[in-house]
Amino acid sequence: MKATIFDIQRNSYVDGPGIRTTVFFKGCNLKCRWCHNPESQSFEKQILFYQNKCTRCGRCKDLTVDDENFICFNDAKEICGKEYSVDKVLKEVIKDKAFYETSGGGVTFSGGECMLQIDFLLETLKKCKENGIHTAVDTAGHIPWESFDKILPFTDLFLYDIKAMNEEIHKKYTGVTNTRILKNLKKLLKSDVDVWVRIPVISGVNDTENEMKNIKAYFDINGYPEKVEFLPYHAMGEHKYETLGKSVEKFEVPDKEKIEKLKNIIVPY
Ligand code: SF4
Repeated sequence: MKATIFDIQRNSYVDGPGIRTTVFFKGCNLKCRWCHNPESQSFEKQILFYQNKCTRCGRCKDLTVDDENFICFNDAKEICGKEYSVDKVLKEVIKDKAFYETSGGGVTFSGGECMLQIDFLLETLKKCKENGIHTAVDTAGHIPWESFDKILPFTDLFLYDIKAMNEEIHKKYTGVTNTRILKNLKKLLKSDVDVWVRIPVISGVNDTENEMKNIKAYFDINGYPEKVEFLPYHAMGEHKYETLGKSVEKFEVPDKEKIEKLKNIIVPY
C-alpha cells in the first residue's frame, strides 16, 4: 500500500503538543481560496518551477513527475509528491522518538486531507501506536463518519478546522458546504478523543463577531474542545501559486488587535 506525500517536516511546534513530525499527504477535497499550501490540493505529483531561479541550463528538459530524485542545482524545479509505503513513513517518524518522549510530542498527519487516503492512514497510525508514539490527525472534516470510526482507536488528538459557520460563506470560499464538517465535529466532541479546533482567520471572510458568536453557540450546545487555536492568514504561501502556474487571490493579513478581540468572544480570559 502506498500514499502520495509531499513533505515530512521534523521539529514542528505548531501541529499539536510538544515536538512533532508532520507528514503532509497530497490531495484535498476542499479548495480554500486562501490555501497557503496550494501544492497540497491535487492528488497528482506535480513539478514546481521557480522561474526567477532558473538559469536555463536545460538539464530538466525531459523531466517528468516520476523523476523523484532529480535535483536542480539552482533549486528552480522540484517534484512535489513522492510515494511512500507505511514502513517508509514509520522509519522517518521514528527517528525523532526521543524528542517526542522528552517534549510530550509525536506525529501529526496533515495535508491536503490525510483522511482521504484512509486505509494507508489507518495502517500508519496503528504502527505508530505499536511503537508508543502520540498520534494527531489534522483534518478539515469533510469526510464520511465511517472513516473517523476506523481511525479513532489509534488517534490521540484531532486538529479540526472550522473555516466558517455561515454555510454560504463556507461554500463560496472552500467549494463545499459545512454540513458534514459540523456534524462530524459534534460526534468527535462527544467522544473520548482530544480535539483542538483551529480557526483560520481570513479578512473579509470569517473575521466577524457574528462568526465567532456562532462558533461559541455551537460549542455551548455540543461541548468545548480541549483547545481553540486561531490561525491568522499569512501571505507566505502566495509565491507557491506562481510555481504551479496558477494565479493567486490575495487577502489582507489581520492585525493582532483584531485577532485578540475575536478570540475573546470564544475563549474569554
Ligand atoms: S535544471 Fe533548473 S536551472 Fe536548469 S533549466 Fe531546469 S529549472 Fe532551470
